[in-house]
Amino acid sequence: MAGVYVHIPFCASRCSYCDFYSTLQLGRLGRSYVEAVIAEAGLRRAELRGEPVRTVYLGGGTPSQLPVPLLERLTDGLKETLELGGVEEFTVEANPDDVSLGWCQAVAAMGVNRVSMGVQTFEDHILRLVGRRHTAQQAVEAVANLRSGGINNISIDLIYGLPGQSPASWTDSVKRAVALAPQHISAYGLTYEEGTRLWQQRERGEVTEVPEEECLEMYRILVDRLQAAGYEHYEISNFALSGYHSRHNSSYWNDTPYLGLGAAAHSYDGSVRSYNPSDLREYIGRITAGKKACEVEMLSRRERYDERVMLGLRTARGVDAEGVRAEFGDAAWRHLERAAQRHIEAGNLRMTDDGRYVLTREGIMLSDSVMRDLMWDED
Ligand code: SF4
Repeated sequence: MAGVYVHIPFCASRCSYCDFYSTLQLGRLGRSYVEAVIAEAGLRRAELRGEPVRTVYLGGGTPSQLPVPLLERLTDGLKETLELGGVEEFTVEANPDDVSLGWCQAVAAMGVNRVSMGVQTFEDHILRLVGRRHTAQQAVEAVANLRSGGINNISIDLIYGLPGQSPASWTDSVKRAVALAPQHISAYGLTYEEGTRLWQQRERGEVTEVPEEECLEMYRILVDRLQAAGYEHYEISNFALSGYHSRHNSSYWNDTPYLGLGAAAHSYDGSVRSYNPSDLREYIGRITAGKKACEVEMLSRRERYDERVMLGLRTARGVDAEGVRAEFGDAAWRHLERAAQRHIEAGNLRMTDDGRYVLTREGIMLSDSVMRDLMWDED
């Protein structure tokens, strides 16, 4: 089984906290970009090694910014080039202000059965502060449009720790998200990425960072409220109603191959990772010349171990200790056992009956430092 990810690097405007690769040049480059992605699918389909594609994910950037005829051309082109007959989950990321009833009906007709929407918060003044284009009311209307338009698998993205947010206002946002009854909620703590507008505003003293202790409190509020509402906390930042885990994102955490198409997209064929350039013109130029645009990334054994442990710990399934031993040998396994034991004693980790290390609730709050301790620091 495999997944296909397509990066759509266009946004209508830039949010102040964002360091994802995207541009405002949809009008000039959108059509040639879509054709390049379809051509890249043809150049690279052998990398799927005949594995049936089960998930397709159009992420961004803002895929909902693509005009519907271009989105149609993209999905038709991918269906003609790749074997997508067995796709079970087809997700498109969207911004609430793009999600009209007509858009929902159009994407449902293309085979999209899941929409992941960047709501971020229900506090309008904060949405404005960080440069989002939508309002809380538009987010509510977008969810109604999705349901009326035939999309019944809805994911909402939230951000906590935004400037001006308090535990009380965050509680209200979480409540409003739950009231919309999406099947899936992802929530990320804000990070001030160097060079972003928000980072510069903080440097100039124009915005104040929410203290770490309050961010932790917001995370606790999130976990408690969502679990009480019936959401399973299946990954550090992800919550789902029963049967609605993101299958596509789960493939990143459980070693399933995926083909990443488009500028800045990453791929993994089961052993080798590769990534495309984060430059639209360079990407289109290389693909149009009939060449692959990707560079191969060779991970050392130590880096693969670190990745396995870190990604495993992010999930409720945890890290399989015997699997680590089988793949990385006794020395790595002994290091894992020793480091894990300390955290078991401290109450941050537990061992499941089938031999997997899983973060406890306390451990999730300290996940960065637990993960750091379990990293392999020997050659
Ligand atoms: S819409 Fe998304 S990708 Fe675009 S700038 Fe905002 S956060 Fe970044």
